[in-house]
Amino acid sequence: MRKKIVAGNWKMNTTPAEGVELIKGVIAQKGEVCSCVNFIVAPPFTHLSEVVKVAKGSGIAVGAQNCAAEAKGAYTGEVSAKMIASLGVDYVILGHSERREYYGETSETLNKKMVQAYENNLIPIYCVGEKLEERESGKHFDVIRAQIEEVVFNLTPEQFSKLIIAYEPVWAIGTGKTATADQAQEVHAFIRKVLADKFGAAAADTAILYGGSCKPSNAAEIFSKEDVDGGLIGGASLVATDFINIGKGFSK
Ligand code: PEP
Repeated sequence: MRKKIVAGNWKMNTTPAEGVELIKGVIAQKGEVCSCVNFIVAPPFTHLSEVVKVAKGSGIAVGAQNCAAEAKGAYTGEVSAKMIASLGVDYVILGHSERREYYGETSETLNKKMVQAYENNLIPIYCVGEKLEERESGKHFDVIRAQIEEVVFNLTPEQFSKLIIAYEPVWAIGTGKTATADQAQEVHAFIRKVLADKFGAAAADTAILYGGSCKPSNAAEIFSKEDVDGGLIGGASLVATDFINIGKGFSK
């Protein structure tokens, strides 16, 4: 049985105090959701310490949105995987399209970040997804395959067994334009096939999340698809009730 996961990417939103209120709101309503759902929240770095403290014992796990590619040293402004892990954080989002697009993250950088994450026992949520022009020109499968082959294929089987993947079509992120459930399923099944070609039967256990304007009104339909194991949620994770109602998309 694959894990069902609803992860919230808060991006660069909320002050630390607002973040604490947000996680408290999620904790307060979590009991309304099937206990089969694993919630993760990924606040900004500045909030991690407090959010970990507040979330302790609630069953809600905490992730970071990024980590440095290097272990330590003269890298002004960077935050290492070790620093993050030492706070009690369990996950790290890597390869988000905003990091690829605005901060020039390449597969080379992401391979280094993966090494840092695993060395510090952080579970990566590795994001892949095509841009609008890539989908329109029918290149989306090639783009996604390359994003996986260039990074995920470098993992050991043991590392791979912990990995979470998020399929996030760039044209659906923050645009209000969601992939249809069938479009999501088609790509998720493709991703699982690419993973199976390399890692064999283990790919059947990999959680593959959908991300891109997922909201309470469309979550249930998307999550009902065979290869969709949950969501990576941006905007809607900033409102506790919306995030919880997305979790209610899992009734199975
Ligand atoms: C995201 O950026 O990970 C995301 C899915 O954003 P949104 O839900 O706002 O589209």
